[in-house]
Amino acid sequence: MIQRRTKNMRRILSAMNYTGVDRLYRRLDCELGLILTLHRVQDAEVREFTPNAHLTITPEFLDFAIGLLKRRGYAFVSMDEARDRIKRGRIKERFAAVTIDDGYRDMMDKAIPVLEAHSVPYMIYIASALTDGSVGLWWETLEKIVEQQDMLCLPTEQGELMFDTSTLNRKASTYLEMIDYLTTQVSEQQQRVVVRQLAASCGIDADSLHKGQIMNWDDVRTANASSLCSIGSHTVNHVAIARLDPDAARHEMVECADRLERETGERPDHFAFPYGHHRAAGARDFELASEAGFHTAVTTRPGLIFPEHAQHLTGLPRLSVNGLFQRQRYFSPLTSGLPTLLNARLRRLDVA
Ligand SMILES: [Zn+2]
Repeated sequence: MIQRRTKNMRRILSAMNYTGVDRLYRRLDCELGLILTLHRVQDAEVREFTPNAHLTITPEFLDFAIGLLKRRGYAFVSMDEARDRIKRGRIKERFAAVTIDDGYRDMMDKAIPVLEAHSVPYMIYIASALTDGSVGLWWETLEKIVEQQDMLCLPTEQGELMFDTSTLNRKASTYLEMIDYLTTQVSEQQQRVVVRQLAASCGIDADSLHKGQIMNWDDVRTANASSLCSIGSHTVNHVAIARLDPDAARHEMVECADRLERETGERPDHFAFPYGHHRAAGARDFELASEAGFHTAVTTRPGLIFPEHAQHLTGLPRLSVNGLFQRQRYFSPLTSGLPTLLNARLRRLDVA
């Protein structure tokens, strides 16, 4: 099911592509490059209820996207090199850096072979408790719950909230309402408890649901053995840093880096804010990431990289390779930077 917002965005991107306004803008503007975000790469599957479809692309589209950027003259670089280029400022050639969040196991089978075939460097951001298997993929558990049930009862401090989830439309709206509740009304810790209890009440075992979906430590070491791969930190518990007090936020950043150093023998210099949107990471958190010693930290705020980002290396925007926009007519205008600039009301910097 495709939401109205996605349909409108597709129309806008297609219009930019067919009129060529994005290509005209690309010639006029002067960004340094872009940092791509990947979450999951899987073969296409047909399912009706897929609220997390934006997080998954096919191996074929990844291959296409890299090919397109190469043909347009982008230099694919590591995050170390991206940082150096941002600090150096403008050079003629644009850069592209590939980043992978969470370390889903399908990256090993479906994404890394494509990246290696193109000799493209890639950064995998690991959340240590996800890799341990002690923290679950709660957003996917919630998807399974809403998909399976026709009616849901969510216990809250204000009493029980009932949701009719008998149709696809109602499932979609319920999923969004629940995500909003879980990311604004309860703590990060409580959020996991609520989803686990809700799953149990529906007969779903949250622990076994995602077994084997995330790379284990051997997988991380295997990936890291490639000269193209780097490992970055993504917090211990995959939490929205902005919702934590400073000590807890610092602990999430540093403890994960310590663990990665113990597991791989290398201390990570780069960090990705889980979720990465405005409510999950803000100016205070960009400062904390800098104090924790990270050379860069990336968000999911959409945007390209400009010379001004040299002063904001721990609050960098990225461009999601989005599963809902897996067509040249959508992806090509996105890489021009025009849609994200319009979305940010013509501001190149979004670091507040
Ligand atoms: Zn993540």
